[in-house]
Amino acid sequence: MSSPEGGPLLEGALLEARGVQVEFVTRSGHAARALDGVDVSVRRGEVLAIVGESGSGKTTLARTLIGLQRPTTGEVLLEGRPLTYSTRGLRNLRSRVQMVLQDASASLNPRQTVYESVAEGIRLHKTVASDEQARNEAELVSAAMAEAGLRPPERLFLRYPHELSGGQKQRVLIAGALALRPELLLADEPVSSLDASIRGEILALLLKLRQELGMGVVVVTHDLGLAWNIADRIAVMYLGRVVECGTTEEVLTAPKHPYTRALLSVVPEIEELEPVVLTGEVPDPSRIPTGCRFHPRCPALADGSAERAGIADACRTAPLEILPATGLHRVACHLDRVLSAQPG
Ligand code: SF4
Repeated sequence: MSSPEGGPLLEGALLEARGVQVEFVTRSGHAARALDGVDVSVRRGEVLAIVGESGSGKTTLARTLIGLQRPTTGEVLLEGRPLTYSTRGLRNLRSRVQMVLQDASASLNPRQTVYESVAEGIRLHKTVASDEQARNEAELVSAAMAEAGLRPPERLFLRYPHELSGGQKQRVLIAGALALRPELLLADEPVSSLDASIRGEILALLLKLRQELGMGVVVVTHDLGLAWNIADRIAVMYLGRVVECGTTEEVLTAPKHPYTRALLSVVPEIEELEPVVLTGEVPDPSRIPTGCRFHPRCPALADGSAERAGIADACRTAPLEILPATGLHRVACHLDRVLSAQPG
């Protein structure tokens, strides 16, 4: 089987986006493409990080993968089958793929106890048969809270969000997702609102869930340092497209796309790269540049290296291919093609 662009699929993919476009109309009446042809795949038991600045389309991609946003074209597949957006189809998806939102304080209902918050999904999805409901539900809630590191669970059942720390709130959200025994967890900026000391704990928890429960995890983040600590594979997004993808080691130790290099150069833990300050306009999905969409901000065009390689015109005018989600290290850049073709 092959993707619409002709590349092979990632073996054993649980959830995939294939050639996904999401279009919308801005307030000023302009058509915009938040996603402009995206292929990504994730397997059970692996952590995929989707990284990029604000405006890159990463959150729209997460919403599309969980069925909250319907693609304008392209499709999302669960174990090779296209999603159906019927109530039944979405219910099936959400029982297997759960999303953890970024702001736990805003996501938790202040009037619900911890127990009610964690049990909400179970009740919605009616995971528990009605006659034994109360006992089984309590067992599921208790198990999910323990897995999320809220121990002993019973002591926290009747607490309200305002009585919890930031880390505990995030764990309650994760427990709510785990209560449905999903195969994949989709976490949007899971630690961005937390103190540094708690961030490590939540990341360790996500890795533990992958290891102990064999769960797949998709982490959406602007933070390449976070991706480095947690991900097996990375997809770097810019203005609605994946511009570089591969294993974490490939992408972060040998970045090929000038955008990935610029993002990496400002990660404090990585000192080998000269800091690159990106200039030019902030990405605007209603005005996607011709040629390479990164060209107005590309350091390789600004410093003359694209000109010397003879690809400056191509950068400004020649479109680049959609990267297929094969799991291999791939980059959408004319300069990389020239450099890769050079001997040695
Ligand atoms: Fe820069 Fe050209 Fe590569 Fe785009 S294609 S990232 S403009 S060198």
